[in-house]
Amino acid sequence: MDVKSQKEEFARAVRFRPPLYKQRYQFVKQLVMKHKPKKVADLGCADCRLLWMLKFCNCIEVLVGLDINEDVMKEKMHILTPLPGDYIQPSERSLTITLHQGSVVHKDPCMRGFDMITCIELIEHLEAQELEKFPEVVFGFMSPSMIIISTPNFEFNPLLPTVKLFRHSDHKFEWNRTEFQNWALDIAARYDYTVEFTGLGAPPPGKDVGFCTQIGVFVRKYLENGEPEKCKEHIYKTVFKAVYPSLKDEKYLQNAVVSEVIQMAQILARTLLDRRISDSVERGFGFQPHRCFLKYLDYLPLAEADRGSMQPFIDGQTVYVPLVKIFSFPKVNHLCGTFERLSKLITGKVALSDDGSAVVIDAEYVKELENYQMFPV
Ligand code: SAM
Repeated sequence: MDVKSQKEEFARAVRFRPPLYKQRYQFVKQLVMKHKPKKVADLGCADCRLLWMLKFCNCIEVLVGLDINEDVMKEKMHILTPLPGDYIQPSERSLTITLHQGSVVHKDPCMRGFDMITCIELIEHLEAQELEKFPEVVFGFMSPSMIIISTPNFEFNPLLPTVKLFRHSDHKFEWNRTEFQNWALDIAARYDYTVEFTGLGAPPPGKDVGFCTQIGVFVRKYLENGEPEKCKEHIYKTVFKAVYPSLKDEKYLQNAVVSEVIQMAQILARTLLDRRISDSVERGFGFQPHRCFLKYLDYLPLAEADRGSMQPFIDGQTVYVPLVKIFSFPKVNHLCGTFERLSKLITGKVALSDDGSAVVIDAEYVKELENYQMFPV
């Protein structure tokens, strides 16, 4: 086989699906799902695509991106902004996403205390002096519980037909497996981490060159961060910050509880009214419930026994839905935790009976809602 057709064969063989960059993000995401870190930072985050994927991982509460290139971050950073749906239905977790412009070889106190730090296709962009400084800053100073480093495997390059020497013009080096592993093992030993090697993008059968992307997963051996290093000065420039609406924030919790209470009260009121109408039809009132049932409400017997119990009851044109009944619904119960908290959150926001024990609903209003078909029938 001549060289040209050999390269064509390899080109067919090494087309990765999904593309390798997506496989790298997926790899990180899987580790996040497994280890459930709360604070995650992506060093060399570029256009924020990995951060965007990670923002959907519910365990993460703090997500930080760092890149030396402000423009490349700014290009797509809007994808990290909360969406209208995030405000309509705030999440139970809190989430803050921040982007900093700065170098991975400079120490900034905002990078300490992370559970996981990712460096995906970053180290090969570092100059020799930067690479020298990198372990001290990332492993020594930031010292997160877990560090994921990926970098091209130089041994794979001959299988990539378009690659001449390195895969990108900005790469300062590309390492073979031994070089990467020696570097990683040395750092792990120096900074008290374990390291395991893996990779993505398997070579074609019969080619013993290792994965296209080589990966080291480092895990800190010691539990505590120890004494914080004397570095108080903030040197990174913050270029983006988004605080997502969260039910941990009293304001959003109150909105969620109020709308849930009103919705439950209306559903219960409507159920009660429907039941009373069908009772009356059975008793021979003989009217069309969907036409003018409110007119007949006055004739319907009032369930005296329901007063003071958990059951909703009607008095005149008003339906009373006891708060204890609403509190018994799992969602309200989960949101509030205690009955006292429920009362506190809705006071002044929801129409309540004089003694505050029931939500009051105007039966006429429920009928109007029905006309607008707001309830599924
Ligand atoms: N991690 C991203 C990914 O996998 O899609 C992007 C990787 S990109 C190939 C390398 C990124 O590292 C670039 O956005 C570059 O600006 C950034 N970078 C290079 N040197 C850096 C440094 N000293 N500190 C922080 N970021 C750096």
